[in-house]
Amino acid sequence: MIIEANNPDLYSWVQVPDRSGFPIQNLPFGVFKTKNLSPRCGVAIGEKILDLHRVYDVGLLNDSGLRTNHFAKNTLNDFIGLGREAGRGIRNRLSYLLNEQNAELRDRADRDTFLVDQTAAEMLMPIEVKNYTDFYSSEQHAFNVGSMFRDPDNALLPNWKHIPVGYHGRASSIIVSGNPIKRPKGQVMPEGADMPVFGPSRLLDFELEMAFITCKENGLGNSISTAAADDHIFGFVLFNDWSARDIQKWEYVPLGPFLAKNFASSVSPWIVTLDALEPFRIAGDTQSPRVLPYLQFQGEKNFDIDLEVFIQPESGEVTRVSTSNFKYMYWNVNQQLAHHSVNGCNIEVGDMYASGTISGPTADSYGSMLELSWRGTKPLKMKGGGERKFIQDGDTVIMRGTAERNGVRIGFGEVSTKVLPAD
Ligand code: MN
Repeated sequence: MIIEANNPDLYSWVQVPDRSGFPIQNLPFGVFKTKNLSPRCGVAIGEKILDLHRVYDVGLLNDSGLRTNHFAKNTLNDFIGLGREAGRGIRNRLSYLLNEQNAELRDRADRDTFLVDQTAAEMLMPIEVKNYTDFYSSEQHAFNVGSMFRDPDNALLPNWKHIPVGYHGRASSIIVSGNPIKRPKGQVMPEGADMPVFGPSRLLDFELEMAFITCKENGLGNSISTAAADDHIFGFVLFNDWSARDIQKWEYVPLGPFLAKNFASSVSPWIVTLDALEPFRIAGDTQSPRVLPYLQFQGEKNFDIDLEVFIQPESGEVTRVSTSNFKYMYWNVNQQLAHHSVNGCNIEVGDMYASGTISGPTADSYGSMLELSWRGTKPLKMKGGGERKFIQDGDTVIMRGTAERNGVRIGFGEVSTKVLPAD
């Protein structure tokens, strides 16, 4: 499949700095407002946002099949609900409008009124999340956690290589980058105690994940094949699945995560389309034992996306604590969606499906403090002094993601969240 907007030879009349993650080949969708502009949809280009509300209003999308100004809304749900092909048509049209060789928008006297400085905009939640599921699809992460809490010789439970394990999370507490969270309070069972105690979590952690957003329903009772899954996926965001390890340890048996996870998850504001990520496909590790037929798939279904996690203390220097990659997924997104719907569960437009913590093979590529500090036994040295076992009050956790190939750099921006003290 050739996607015109992905052509590495395209340039925009909007200036794009050298190391920008938002060249004309990306065009991620988001929702923003400014002091003067009501919430609306836009695409990122360089250090600007193209105001799609306005682009639609002046008729520049007239031939794109869009009959309603979905970009005037404060979520992208209605737009992505048009489906992946319609989204591709709009993205191709926007690419054409921003192309340095196309005069339509470039030569308008009022062209600057279509562009907003990203620094002047507040980014909002890009979608209203209908349902949220979190998988557990990185083998290294599952192995690390199994080794720590059970037995290194039997770290993976017997089902792990047969089922993309997941659980249903909480959609209402998913927040966009830039909003702080309060340290959660809850019930924990201290080591050696015989009664639980209540208080602020002492083992607050991040989980480095990516999440995909669905744009097509299957309808209750129908399943989605691994081959059809691509048509249901609009795009991806960075996802920080905040976790309170002490609360989790006490509550998770027998039904899994609950209050240790549902107090907040943070996402990056720009949805990078599956189309923009097509050039970054890569094969995942060979799956052995062979999976059941409904989980088998054709083609390259993993993505080569570099991921980084930083901790910025209240005062002091920022420290990079992890470098991982989305390619380290044992189960790919097509398998996740096929498994999720194989029983007839209905996938909705605007659902969010997170990957699970993405841990690479080396100790500096683990995707959580639990693993990086190995349950607190190996504190991480912070630049400028101090150390971290888990996340402290005043810390800001920042995740970034970038895919780079053939001179094209597709960025996700960042998800940045400050932790405030419990009240
Ligand atoms: Mn998670």
